[in-house]
Amino acid sequence: MTVLTQLRSLDATTLARSRRPRRISVLGATGSIGESTLDLIGRNPSAYQVVALTGGRNVARLAGLAVKHRAELAVIADMAGYAELCSALAGTGIEVGAGRDALVEAASRPADWVMAAIVGAAGLEPTLAAVRQGTTTALANKECLVSAGAIFMAEVGRHKTMLLPVDSEHSAALQAMAGAQAEAIETVCLTASGGPFRSWSLAEMANVRPEQALKHPNWSMGPKVTLDSATLMNKGLELIEAHHLFSLGPDQLDVLIHPQSIVHCLVSYRDGSVLAQLSCPDMRTPIAYSLAWPERMHAPTERLDLAKLGALSFAAPDEARFPALRIAKAALAAGGCATTVLNAANEVAVEAFFAGRIGFLGIANLVEATLEAAITLSAATPTSVEEVLAVDAEARTRAAAQLGRFAIA
Ligand code: NAD
Ligand code: MG
Repeated sequence: MTVLTQLRSLDATTLARSRRPRRISVLGATGSIGESTLDLIGRNPSAYQVVALTGGRNVARLAGLAVKHRAELAVIADMAGYAELCSALAGTGIEVGAGRDALVEAASRPADWVMAAIVGAAGLEPTLAAVRQGTTTALANKECLVSAGAIFMAEVGRHKTMLLPVDSEHSAALQAMAGAQAEAIETVCLTASGGPFRSWSLAEMANVRPEQALKHPNWSMGPKVTLDSATLMNKGLELIEAHHLFSLGPDQLDVLIHPQSIVHCLVSYRDGSVLAQLSCPDMRTPIAYSLAWPERMHAPTERLDLAKLGALSFAAPDEARFPALRIAKAALAAGGCATTVLNAANEVAVEAFFAGRIGFLGIANLVEATLEAAITLSAATPTSVEEVLAVDAEARTRAAAQLGRFAIA
């Protein structure tokens, strides 16, 4: 079942909100998407009851959000933060937890809607826990689908869970597909800003420093997705995400460089029509779409003024300068465990780049070398979460072992 058929099979009237306020949880509450979600929720607090909020390491931030939004439960992933979180929330009546099991428990708490916004494959088990409860899941964590797409979507189908993509391009695709017959769709084209190095030469990119890669021209996002946008790995991950969400073959998926980030996705139909979704680049628009669906809510975002913008431009991506896109496409085409390896190796590469251990161009090189070194890994598509986690761990080990090859001179 794809997200599209799932949405069509639901009668909107059955979704009329029977319970108010809506019970919501935010996994990854202290991050960029988490904070944008809570910004929307905080503007109409009587409409929502916050169940669980989770964070990775930032105890003070998590405690502040839990108090502000009167959460029932606050969970910090890092066990070392437990005592500090307990003392920060002492006397508030807010339950406290720490560690992986507590994250899964937070995601399993009965709720009407959960935002899955943990970064990386670390979000897989908590997000799956929400999916298995049948909780309507707003999915920002694209790495879940890159690492374990087939298993993830099978669980979505098995539990009849409403899955609403939050990634701006996939939210746009969903909006441009509303009411469409799946067989009438020819292609789906995701746009990419091209990042801060869109017009840089390979020689210039060789010396990129982390602070330069963290300056995205249009979007304000967490560090990993900002770096992934600069290498264009983000767009490769998003092609894989779209493949799973919408059951589209690799030949139906395309990428277009669009520096203004106004058009987020274009859906082409067999009669020659192309439908697109446009908005100013602010994640609160796709988050609001997922939060209010099937209705629409007010979002406090800048309104689009095309006359003021004057022109929008588009170009084909340059895979010679941005090889991460080519490598991700190859992993999607290869199938099996290749995208699990791709995701794990990229997470290792991103961390190594931020730590000054490899250069910017080393990111794609390390991912490609790990994929090559992984051909002895089971070629079969993992059939369980345990298998995914085993492939993920093995890929991380192999990537880490090769870091020295791409060290900065
Ligand atoms: P972020 O780094 O700002 O926030 C990530 C959140 O996950 C934080 O709450 C952090 O504490 C938590 N976290 C980190 N490691 C963890 C771990 N090991 N266990 C549990 N929690 C952990 O990231 P973000 O930009 O908000 O992105 C979140 C997800 O949404 C990513 O998958 C990203 O690709 C996707 N996404 C983000 C944007 C955006 O605009 N920020 C846009 C599209 C998609
Ligand atoms: Mg995106």
